[in-house]
Amino acid sequence: MAELLQFKSVSRRFGGFMAVRDVDFGVAEGEVHCLIGPNGAGKSTLFKLAVGTYAPTSGTVHFRGQNVTHEASFARVQRGMSIKMQAPSVFRALPVRQNLHIAMQHHVPLPDLSREEERLLALLGLSADATRLAGELSHGQQQWLEIGMAMALKPTLLLLDEPTAGLSPEETFRTGELVLRLAVGGVTVLAVEHDMAFVRQIATRVTVLHLGQVFAHGSVAEIVADPRVAEIYLGMPHVA
Ligand code: ADP
Ligand code: MG
Repeated sequence: MAELLQFKSVSRRFGGFMAVRDVDFGVAEGEVHCLIGPNGAGKSTLFKLAVGTYAPTSGTVHFRGQNVTHEASFARVQRGMSIKMQAPSVFRALPVRQNLHIAMQHHVPLPDLSREEERLLALLGLSADATRLAGELSHGQQQWLEIGMAMALKPTLLLLDEPTAGLSPEETFRTGELVLRLAVGGVTVLAVEHDMAFVRQIATRVTVLHLGQVFAHGSVAEIVADPRVAEIYLGMPHVA
């Protein structure tokens, strides 16, 4: 598998503090890669280094073989990254379908728009809610709509920052099913996540960060069975 996104010796310092230290890892084409680790491990910082919110203090970030270390987020989006930030930012006063329409209008030819809207609505499980205002949806449905808006850009790599934050176990499971449907459709996914049940459901590979460094790396089964990983999570009740 070719690496779609690659970090090479990436560090990020805030003042005197190294939030991310010498991180090497790659996200391979076609996989669902989960980035996990205790609070303060550097997950969000690494995510922001991937999407271009921050530049690294040292090291390089590559996307599809190109060095994008100093590219702005919008340029990375043009290359095929699509980002769903943590808090939903749907247009609450507009219907669900209109939200998708706005996200797609510059990416989908006009004659195909309504068919694409239908396809995306079905994929998101929101067909029955197409005419409802986005602000009336449940928190979970808003997250799915926003994932749909990120998908409207037809990305190669979908970056999700804690897509299950604030969701019920049922909504979390359905989010996992959605991510797996997207992966089957050919999208590569990198998700920063807390919920281990969700990670078990979706991940092809897992990278564990701890104190800003890659602590472990492997399949879900390997990570779950690793006593060293369990140890760094001790006292963290959100991990099963
Ligand atoms: P995680 O997402 O794994 O919980 P973060 O990447 O948010 O961890 O943070 C890692 C460490 O870096 C924390 O100690 C945090 O306080 C620090 N940090 C993150 N962002 C900044 C910033 N903008 N300025 C100073 N310190 C920061
Ligand atoms: Mg975080």
